[in-house]
Amino acid sequence: GSSAPAPSGKGRVLVIGATGFIGRFVAEASIRSGRPTYLLVRPGTSGCASKSNIVKLLHDQGAMILHGLVNDKEFMEKLLRDYEIEIVISAVGGENVLDQMNLVEAIKAVGTIKRFLPSEFGHDVDKADPVEPGLNMYIEKRRVRRLVEDSGIPYTYICCNSIAAWPYFDNTHPSEVLPPLDQFQIYGDGSVKAYFVAGSDIGKYTMRTVDDVRALNKSVHFRPSCNYYNINELALLWEKKIGRTLPRVTITEDDLLAAAAENRIPESIVASFTHDIFIKGCQINFSIDGLGEVEVCELYPEDSFRTLDECFGEYLEEIKENIGGVKEEGNMDKEGIVAPKPSVGAI
Ligand code: NDP
Repeated sequence: GSSAPAPSGKGRVLVIGATGFIGRFVAEASIRSGRPTYLLVRPGTSGCASKSNIVKLLHDQGAMILHGLVNDKEFMEKLLRDYEIEIVISAVGGENVLDQMNLVEAIKAVGTIKRFLPSEFGHDVDKADPVEPGLNMYIEKRRVRRLVEDSGIPYTYICCNSIAAWPYFDNTHPSEVLPPLDQFQIYGDGSVKAYFVAGSDIGKYTMRTVDDVRALNKSVHFRPSCNYYNINELALLWEKKIGRTLPRVTITEDDLLAAAAENRIPESIVASFTHDIFIKGCQINFSIDGLGEVEVCELYPEDSFRTLDECFGEYLEEIKENIGGVKEEGNMDKEGIVAPKPSVGAI
């Protein structure tokens, strides 16, 4: 390798998928942790202004940029060796899960990788059993898990549950969208609980696990009790922020199953996960007591999670800025924050 030796405990990290939704949080947290951070960026990203901007921002923060494809085994093998990578974190998107099969082969061939985190960042795919088309993604993630385990590669599976945001059933990246201002869509009776984790905390705690021996060959579940909400409670929290109440419409189990059955990718995948979370309770219908699993708050009890209340507060700030940067009260009429344009079909 050409680069200077990394300080001990600060092994070199390779993040794959840093231009993506989850990967960016991980890349930022890796840089912040003071580790030498390399990002694998797909060639051609420069043609996309928003993506090349993300790459530039991460580079400015100190990341080293490498161009290539994760599914190119020989290339990945050489890269891992040349840059003396110790920790590999993949956050490739749902449609590219199987691209990781060649990466696993490369990691196995190199033999010096101390920890591999495949693209998980959701539920425990061995436990959860969503309807199709979500199931197919889980089957692919399970295939990657089995290859990792059979190859004897040290791993950690990050099961971080839901991102802190309004859980729209047709949007893969809900935290990029404001919570509703016209009406709430409540799944079923709205009473099934889930865990909501800020993107920055997904990154931060992912990075805490990478050289933690207690997370070696384990699934790490994110269950911060401060962010344990059902969708009725989520609606109340948002109403408190915006200072007004919104009508509720029920999205039934059958509605979610119908949206999943339409097999529109990726919306139907999200519908199947929404059904699994808010109807079947896939995040909460098991206890974490198996040999291969740990809970993140038990690992790091001294650390606190950003609360959903804070995250919703940020959305409120965003809305106020969008309205025009007027003084706080100026954005609220006597009924509180109002929707920019009334949505057709709201009751
Ligand atoms: P995105 O689609 O937003 O980003 C995927 C990233 O992977 C992009 O940077 C993409 O590069 C890169 N990539 C894909 N294929 C390759 C390849 N062959 N070689 C190199 N880079 C590649 O993914 P998400 O963030 O949505 O998903 C990441 C993981 O997080 C998934 O496992 C997903 O299931 C999970 N997830 C969890 C959520 C939650 O709420 N818990 C929400 C959303 C996702 P490029 O920019 O060139 O396309």
